[in-house]
Amino acid sequence: MPARAKKPVSVVTGGAGFLGSHLTDRLLAEGHRVIAIDNLITGNPANIGHLAGNADFRFIKHNVSNFIFLPEEKLDYVFHFASPASPIDYLELPIPTLKVGALGTHNTLGLAKDKKAAFILASTSECYGDPLVHPQKEDYWGNVNPIGPRGVYDEAKRFAEAMTMAYHRYHKIDTKIVRIFNTYGPRMRLRDGRVVPAFIGQALAGKPLTVFGDGSQTRSFCYVSDLIDGIFKLSQSKFHEPVNIGNPREMTIKQFAEEIIRIMGAKSSIEYKPLPEDDPKVRQPDISRAKKILGWQPKVEFEEGIKKTIEYFRNASKSAGSN
Ligand code: NAD
Ligand code: UDP
Repeated sequence: MPARAKKPVSVVTGGAGFLGSHLTDRLLAEGHRVIAIDNLITGNPANIGHLAGNADFRFIKHNVSNFIFLPEEKLDYVFHFASPASPIDYLELPIPTLKVGALGTHNTLGLAKDKKAAFILASTSECYGDPLVHPQKEDYWGNVNPIGPRGVYDEAKRFAEAMTMAYHRYHKIDTKIVRIFNTYGPRMRLRDGRVVPAFIGQALAGKPLTVFGDGSQTRSFCYVSDLIDGIFKLSQSKFHEPVNIGNPREMTIKQFAEEIIRIMGAKSSIEYKPLPEDDPKVRQPDISRAKKILGWQPKVEFEEGIKKTIEYFRNASKSAGSN
């Protein structure tokens, strides 16, 4: 028992989601106790199913846009990762998205302040909107349409960053902000609408890959283990300004579709669909700050990461089919 009491304790909001569950695994491996808080609005209990019975892990089903009550716990870190994250999810859940970015951030910062814990905000490259500067550096303020359909997510995260810096400056909380760029890997939902599961799912089903617009828009995809490594390193740093974490390897969405077809040996064709409103035309992280401050850079090659992800979805779709 005394040995257990000495372990650092981390809260992970959104702990049953894609990134939150990988972060939880990493924190447990680093010797933390973890309390995952999630209302399962876009998460999946299966992502944390392997942790059932782990004495260092606790799950609380709760909406963090409401007050978070953890009176007995001493906390060292609060990681605020709860938020719908895929464009389909936040378009379907505009008000919960705004609330978890605003009220959820306020509540989790209040928790960190009360417990004298460090606070780590999962922010996003969407803070840069449809960027006019390329690649994106942290000192770029962005080009966001506040009243467009993506505004509910982008502005919630921009508010969350402002609130985090205010708690840092005014209350002297030890805060960090990670601007996460498109990340992929096992535990994404096959039908969450993001391009990686969308294309792999379509290729597995032998259906056409739906490229939006002419496919010339770019994204830069980071494998999940690299991202989590950068976030863990940031949590151990004393750096308070935002840090981009992502993989600078940029490609067009058309190239990405072609790569998926090639790597999977799929017979699928490409079908062009209308480009969603305010879809960013380019996105690529400048990671010089992360390299300098954290000594971090991604290690996993695209082909290696995507093969692991394809394998995960192949197995997931088989077990869904056998149910
Ligand atoms: P996800 O949807 O898999 O996970 C989000 C989790 O938050 C889900 O388990 C969901 O149920 C939970 N949640 C949402 N609202 C909640 C609330 N009010 N109370 C409690 N739980 C709530 O998405 P993800 O990809 O794992 O994203 C995690 C975080 O990282 C998000 O904050 C997202 O904005 C950020 N992010 C992710 C990416 C990416 O590429 N995956 C990119 C940029 C930013
Ligand atoms: N996209 C696409 N087909 C799909 C899903 C997405 O062409 O079936 C495009 C989308 O328009 C965007 C890019 O892929 O340009 C990445 O979309 P995603 O939803 O993964 O995340 P975003 O980077 O836009 O937040």
